[in-house]
Amino acid sequence: MKIIFAQNYGFCSGIKRAVMLAIKNAPICSIGTLLHNEGVIEKLKEKGVYCVGGIDEVFTDKVLIRSHGMGKADIEIIKQSDKTIIDATCPSVKRIHEIVAKAYSDGFHVVIVGDAAHPEVLGINGWCENSATIVDENSDLDGLCDYEKLCFVSQTTFRAKKYAEIIKKIQKDRLKTVEIFDTICYTTTVRQSEAESIANKSDEMIVIGSRSSKNTRMLCDICSGRCGSVTLVESLAQLKNIKLSPVSTVGVVAGASAPEELIMEVKVYMSQNIGEVSVSDELKAGVEESFVSYREGKRVKGKVISADEKGIKLSIGGKYDGIIYKNEVNIDGSYDPEQFTEGMEIEAIIIGKKDPETDCIPLSKKKVDLILEGDKVVDSIRDGSVFEVTVSSDSKGGLLARLGTYTVFVPSSHILERGFPKDLKSFVKKKLRLTVLEIDDDKHKIIASQKNVLVAERKEREEIFWENVKPNVVVAGTVKRITSFGAFVSVDGFDCLAHIVDLSWNHIKTVDEVLKIGETYDFLVLSVDREKGRVSLGYKQLQPHPFVVAMQKYPVGSEVEGKVVSIVPFGAFVQIEPGVEGLVHVSEASHGFTKNINEVVKVGDIVKVKILAIDEESRRITLSIKACLPEDAIPEAKPENEEDKVRKPRAKKTERKPKDDDDSQKEWKEDSSNNQFADLLKNLDIKD
Ligand code: SF4
Repeated sequence: MKIIFAQNYGFCSGIKRAVMLAIKNAPICSIGTLLHNEGVIEKLKEKGVYCVGGIDEVFTDKVLIRSHGMGKADIEIIKQSDKTIIDATCPSVKRIHEIVAKAYSDGFHVVIVGDAAHPEVLGINGWCENSATIVDENSDLDGLCDYEKLCFVSQTTFRAKKYAEIIKKIQKDRLKTVEIFDTICYTTTVRQSEAESIANKSDEMIVIGSRSSKNTRMLCDICSGRCGSVTLVESLAQLKNIKLSPVSTVGVVAGASAPEELIMEVKVYMSQNIGEVSVSDELKAGVEESFVSYREGKRVKGKVISADEKGIKLSIGGKYDGIIYKNEVNIDGSYDPEQFTEGMEIEAIIIGKKDPETDCIPLSKKKVDLILEGDKVVDSIRDGSVFEVTVSSDSKGGLLARLGTYTVFVPSSHILERGFPKDLKSFVKKKLRLTVLEIDDDKHKIIASQKNVLVAERKEREEIFWENVKPNVVVAGTVKRITSFGAFVSVDGFDCLAHIVDLSWNHIKTVDEVLKIGETYDFLVLSVDREKGRVSLGYKQLQPHPFVVAMQKYPVGSEVEGKVVSIVPFGAFVQIEPGVEGLVHVSEASHGFTKNINEVVKVGDIVKVKILAIDEESRRITLSIKACLPEDAIPEAKPENEEDKVRKPRAKKTERKPKDDDDSQKEWKEDSSNNQFADLLKNLDIKD
């Protein structure tokens, strides 16, 4: 006799997780049977895990919510007690809770396809305030026509084919909004299809599992549709009592809550007492699939086998499984194993050779996500929006990049704002900001331009610049170029001119006495001519005027050395600071009578002067030489052309009453044709 054993058996991941959580948190009471196997339940009891009928019967500090899950209100009741909840709801079931809660709050009427009495279905219904309609393959669906919006979910262990038939019927009958979720768990789907396949080849089927297990009963149901004799066994003892008919092939499958130990016992017993055991054709199919290529860069779809702290293990077909290590899961680097439930389909890219440690093919989900995001971007750029790419290579006549599944080509004529780049290779790995010129969806090609972006951005900057640049506004500018007549200064990318006369209050011969190329300074906008595109800047206008500095430095009454810079009929102008001159009236040149100021000082003399008065408004300083001399000092006759000589005092010749201040001011005003200081003031446009 030939015996075909299923290759998928033992506890499913949901049951395994619940058992592990229970043992870890023992002593603990599970509300309801943790799994459908009396032997295992007894063993768990020895470890401090007890199954009770309801919250009232819980006698431990901790309460376990089993893999079937519970309704929201029931969980709230437990929360009201002083018990600690350990939630072992299977992630696949939890997903259904979330779908149902959301649909219910969005106004959908929830339809659960499954067994109305099953605890999992009761729990699901508890997430829409027990308002769901529960149907199975025999239900009349006409009553559902009254609802505007329907949301369909199925019990995780419902038969996939039957769920599909119900959905087909609904979609045919209704034109209203129907949302359908595939919530049958992967373990169930795999075991059901394997059972179907083995039953097709067998004369008799043995299903190992508990009579009270929904998925075990479902396996019986599937098998009986394909082979004449199906026997459910819950223990080895039961199997031993079965009298197998003298058939040629017996198939063996197991429910999700059948422990591996029991299955192995059955396997050993059958191989020793009944006939030759082989694994199902599914495995052979797997061998054939071992020729599947695992080329790097290939995109594969797989179903989640398990997810833990290390990453997600995927069934990708062929000889090996795939593994997405946690840093390859999400683009943002986050990873939560709880989000990846068994059977969930994931698309990933092969990123390396088989990892000898895990025996799995390394995959990346985030790379696929990036591609998919890129495709989403393609839709968002059709209206001319700017997008960014990184240049992957240069090609004849332009640059190439990827955007999702599209190839982006930037022609050489569209890379720079003006002209062509000399070296295309220098752009490789650089980012470009582009707008679309053309999209070919059939060939997945985009032709794009950076030039258009640069031109548009410059125009935008220009508009903002001319809007904001106004006379008397202070702007920051960087010196770009220096000429004999001034400096070209870049303000927000625009060339403005700062004339040499507007750089310093003092006379300067070259611009670089004040400004340095590449340095940034504050300038005052002097004039703006948008039509001609000209902006004049001043630098000195933002610097303190030397007169103001001198005023603070030399108060009235102080004495200072200065240089005679010019002689006029009524006196001499003495420079006390660069750019600051004061007048020594002829009457203030000496204690004696001075007919001609040249008798006392010459241009270039260094003389000591006293500050007699400062007129801030007219910026005039009145100086006196004689105030620094002893009363009896008489000036010596000044030899001609003698310069840079401090005047020595000499004996007083005659007593002469000096002119009063008013007189000297009057004389200054009346005869100032040679007055350099006055000339300076005349040319200034300084606001107080
Ligand atoms: S949903 Fe699937 S994996 Fe979860 S407990 Fe049920 S059978 Fe097991």
